[in-house]
Amino acid sequence: MSDWQRATIAAQANGQHNSATGGVVGPIDLSTTFERSEDYSLPAGGIYRRDDNQTVREAESVIAALEGGGGTEARLYASGLAAIAALMRSARGPIVVQNGTYYGTNTFAARLADEGAPIGWFDANDLSSLEDACATHKPRLVMIETPSNPLLDIVSIAEAAAIAHRFDAALAVDSTTATPILTRPLEHGADIVVHSATKGLNGHSDVLAGALVGGGERREIFDAAAKARAYDGAVLGAFDAYLLTRGMRTLSLRVAASCRSALHVAHYLAAHPKVTRVRYPGLPDHPGHAVAAAQMDGGFGSLLSFDVKGGAEEALRVAGWLRLIKRATSLGGVESLIEHRHSIEPASTGMPPALLRLSVGIEATEDIVADLEQALAALP
Ligand SMILES: *Cc1c(COP(=O)(O)O)cnc(C)c1O
Repeated sequence: MSDWQRATIAAQANGQHNSATGGVVGPIDLSTTFERSEDYSLPAGGIYRRDDNQTVREAESVIAALEGGGGTEARLYASGLAAIAALMRSARGPIVVQNGTYYGTNTFAARLADEGAPIGWFDANDLSSLEDACATHKPRLVMIETPSNPLLDIVSIAEAAAIAHRFDAALAVDSTTATPILTRPLEHGADIVVHSATKGLNGHSDVLAGALVGGGERREIFDAAAKARAYDGAVLGAFDAYLLTRGMRTLSLRVAASCRSALHVAHYLAAHPKVTRVRYPGLPDHPGHAVAAAQMDGGFGSLLSFDVKGGAEEALRVAGWLRLIKRATSLGGVESLIEHRHSIEPASTGMPPALLRLSVGIEATEDIVADLEQALAALP
């Protein structure tokens, strides 16, 4: 199956089905415990669901096949943040983290620092700051996020990997906003891929899940994080794993449709007199456009941010006037969502007051644009 295109891997759940019944869809295995034989052996290997679950393994097999070739492995966690926590705690040493990424990642890193872990920071738009942070902290793990949420910063995965490896650190890439349809970080030299599968991978805003993908040469931290999942109990439920596999069957179609719309919406907003700035790597004037074009394949993602003319008040009014696009957190779902991050992050993150983050769904592009048009037009 390794020669299948990604659309095929996703649509066919990597060739899995119900081998007991011939059903074309895999079963949901809900057993928490597995019976032993008279000689006390385990006929199918499983002992207890916290260690291993067949329905979870099915979803992991799809993610691993989408992210890499042979030898690539995936582990699912109870949420994206559970995966990130397992990863960062498993580094057991200094970590260098990108500034201004997903709020939960930056907050988790800051909490680790409070507990005494050595954490260094770097700026996505200046890779010499990554070099400096590595020289200072001698990290075991470097964490990047590209495109970042919600600032849409772009980091060259290949360059970050070269720097991390020069200091003998593993490189982890949070690729949530790209999905494996657009970017496969392992192909660019990364050691571990992180996903909030809550977002684009599942795509229907009805599953909370996270994934780590790895298994290459530098697999020590990935393996430790995989063990931490069972030890710490950060496991995904079987129903959620089933829904995730179901959601991923349409991944390539959903990503293609939302990327196409997002690019159109970004151009529309960039030309709008009530919008002062658009952050979207697909726009030619984005500082990371060339790098994004080189490491993203077939589109620039469904996420963009734009600054409304004025400040927090104007941004909240525009959000409030929207009729189709829902005011809600999260991203990567079939429905378009808008969020005013400044309202929910503490002042310390410096989130621009006028910024609205838009996750473009798979609705008709003209309906999304018309909704933005009427909301922006109402602004004096
Ligand atoms: C949402 C998100 C996470 C956290 O995932 P949860 O599933 O909500 O725990 C991590 N990274 C990025 C980029 C995200 O958008």
